[in-house]
Amino acid sequence: MKKVDSGTYNMPVRYGPEMRILIVGGGISGLTLAGLLQQRGFRPTVAERAPEYGSMGYIIVLWPSGSRILKGLGLYQKLLDTGLPFSTYNVWNEKGEMLRSYSVETVTEKYGPMISIYRPELINILREAVDPETIRMNTTVEKIRQSRDEVFVTFSDGREEVYDLVVGCDGVRSKTRSMVFGHVPLTYSGMKGWSFWVKSNLHKTAHIAEYWGTGKFLGVWPTKGRLSVFTSIRCPEGMPEPIEGRVGRIEEHFKDFGGIVPDILAGLDDESQIYCDDYNDLRMDKWYKGRVVLSGDSAHAVLPTAGGGVSMAIESAAVLADELSRADSKYIAHALESYESRRRPRVIKIQDQSRMMGKVAFANSRILSYLRNYVMRFYSNKLHIKYWDSMLKDPI
Ligand SMILES: Cc1cc2nc3c(=O)[nH]c(=O)nc-3n(C[C@H](O)[C@H](O)[C@H](O)COP(=O)(O)OP(=O)(O)OC[C@H]3O[C@@H](n4cnc5c(N)ncnc54)[C@H](O)[C@@H]3O)c2cc1C
Repeated sequence: MKKVDSGTYNMPVRYGPEMRILIVGGGISGLTLAGLLQQRGFRPTVAERAPEYGSMGYIIVLWPSGSRILKGLGLYQKLLDTGLPFSTYNVWNEKGEMLRSYSVETVTEKYGPMISIYRPELINILREAVDPETIRMNTTVEKIRQSRDEVFVTFSDGREEVYDLVVGCDGVRSKTRSMVFGHVPLTYSGMKGWSFWVKSNLHKTAHIAEYWGTGKFLGVWPTKGRLSVFTSIRCPEGMPEPIEGRVGRIEEHFKDFGGIVPDILAGLDDESQIYCDDYNDLRMDKWYKGRVVLSGDSAHAVLPTAGGGVSMAIESAAVLADELSRADSKYIAHALESYESRRRPRVIKIQDQSRMMGKVAFANSRILSYLRNYVMRFYSNKLHIKYWDSMLKDPI
């Protein structure tokens, strides 16, 4: 540690292992950031609200731009062993007639596989990169106060600590964000979705199948030994959706769908295992304030319609780790500015694509869905490859 003898910063300059970093949220971005920082010799603390890592969760798809970061963490082979690569994506209309079948093989040849994985399994893989001693489970942050040079944190267990930097990785409804930035509204997409698991023998291939209706969507996403279903509808924001009666409501919304949808609905029983949420994204003017920075969904939640949220969270964590590894406690603002300017254009691009995908898959009138289904005839595999290439080629 070196004392600064000039300028306005009158604290010892800390970097590497000396820099006091708190990561709030030990989910996808928090664990990735903690693992990468620990690999570089830092000793961040992670505060995770959950009492333990559980087994509830949905399927996610990792793009190669996100999964390649697990190579540097020594976790990539585990990801390949646990997840399921896919290369075919089929789109059907609601009657169960195929609109188009796409192969992303050219893209995966160039960038690496698209991998579907059960979220708790991805969390378990990422945890292997993080010293368990540094994760405080069942812990949240109650208060954050900052001076120009330090952040003063009060934890839910009453503990008070001082940090050089606090990183909010606590998800789309981040409390870190609201404590530091005040109320920042999420943007509601007009869509709400349910996700659940069904018997894997309902769909025997490793292909993704999506059924596009009018203002309704049902996607079937396989991963190793499991089959995940997303059902979504257009509806007003905040429409109540109690657990009780959930199965009946899903059946009602999708009763006219064909293909394997009737078999899926017939197997639906345990309402408590159906996850439901509004589809929101988030755009903020600034991702940091003083010595508190946001990463992952807390800074830039993405609609699940293009399946990019996890990859964006992992990419952002990698860029933040990269910038912090060149920073110290005095020049932290410069690192945070660089992090944000490196990430913002790419994140906005993916958010825009996800909004556009939502409009297409959820065309909300009969005429629009008819036109969409007609136009799909001309949306060739070549165009589809071009779309994926544009999503994956950017430097992060
Ligand atoms: C139904 C659904 C399907 C999705 N499908 C996909 C997909 O196919 N592909 C994809 O890429 N993305 C998908 N996403 C989005 C993806 O899940 C998120 O983008 C991703 O998890 C963001 O990672 P994160 O680390 O920012 O937040 P999270 O993974 O949500 O992690 C936040 C962590 O913070 C903890 N936490 C919360 N509050 C506090 C607090 N106050 N104090 C301490 N800890 C706290 C939470 O317990 C959690 O562990 C989907 C999302 C949903 C809802």
